[in-house]
Amino acid sequence: MIITVVSGKGGAGKTSVAAALAHILPRERTILIDADVDTPNLALALGLNTPIGREDWVGTVVAEYVGGEPDPKICPFGAINEDGTVNELLCEGCGVCVKKYPNSYRLKNIKGAEILEYRWGNVPLITAELEPGRSGSGRIVTDIRTRADRIAEEENRDIQLIDAAAGRGCPVIASIRGADLAVLVVDNTPTGASDAEAVVPALKHFNVPFYFVVNRYDLAPERVDELTEKFKKAGGKHIGSVPYDSEILETYPLPAKRILQHINVEEILQMI
Ligand code: SF4
Repeated sequence: MIITVVSGKGGAGKTSVAAALAHILPRERTILIDADVDTPNLALALGLNTPIGREDWVGTVVAEYVGGEPDPKICPFGAINEDGTVNELLCEGCGVCVKKYPNSYRLKNIKGAEILEYRWGNVPLITAELEPGRSGSGRIVTDIRTRADRIAEEENRDIQLIDAAAGRGCPVIASIRGADLAVLVVDNTPTGASDAEAVVPALKHFNVPFYFVVNRYDLAPERVDELTEKFKKAGGKHIGSVPYDSEILETYPLPAKRILQHINVEEILQMI
């Protein structure tokens, strides 16, 4: 059983909901995955500061200058300096320079992130932390999911809870793929609904049924009915509305019970 918590943007309350849901799952059967590798906060939300394992993720591809006539204009991303060397922070690894000047440039893998493993009690939590200047990619999410699959198999754990990357790009797709259920967190702000709405086509494409939670509903109560109707029409089931609570935002570990009292988790529990 794979449950993925998604939202249309960062700061919508996704990690808070994911951390709260972690409290209702049977600990001996569960593994947690924080796929939000741009800002992995699930460990912190659960009160964990120190990983028990660290490993470099050497999956970022960049070009390397090995000599010859420099041609900075060949790079569509402006990553080649006047002397021919490559600015690795700007390089997208597209390979254009290598194709044009195979004797001057070659592609190489460099460290793009660090994979981290925590234990929440006996529950494994797998995540990754990007190197400064690197962007999240679906590949790293896929890699941490593969690692989580391996641990789940070794430890006989059949429930995975994934805190997905925010937005709707490749890392989100990699977080949704294969999920049995998604919980969509809709932030009750002017742009929150449209951001969350953008995730729905991806859920439908992968046939992932979804529940939704409205976060900070009390900031604009007059908007909530319209918002819930919109996501019900899109096929979602409303399972809760969480009020704005500064203590939830400022307290670590997260006060899960304060969130759970606003979410109906019965159906989720029946499914696992
Ligand atoms: S691989 Fe692409 S982005 Fe990187 S330096 Fe070469 S042309 Fe530029």
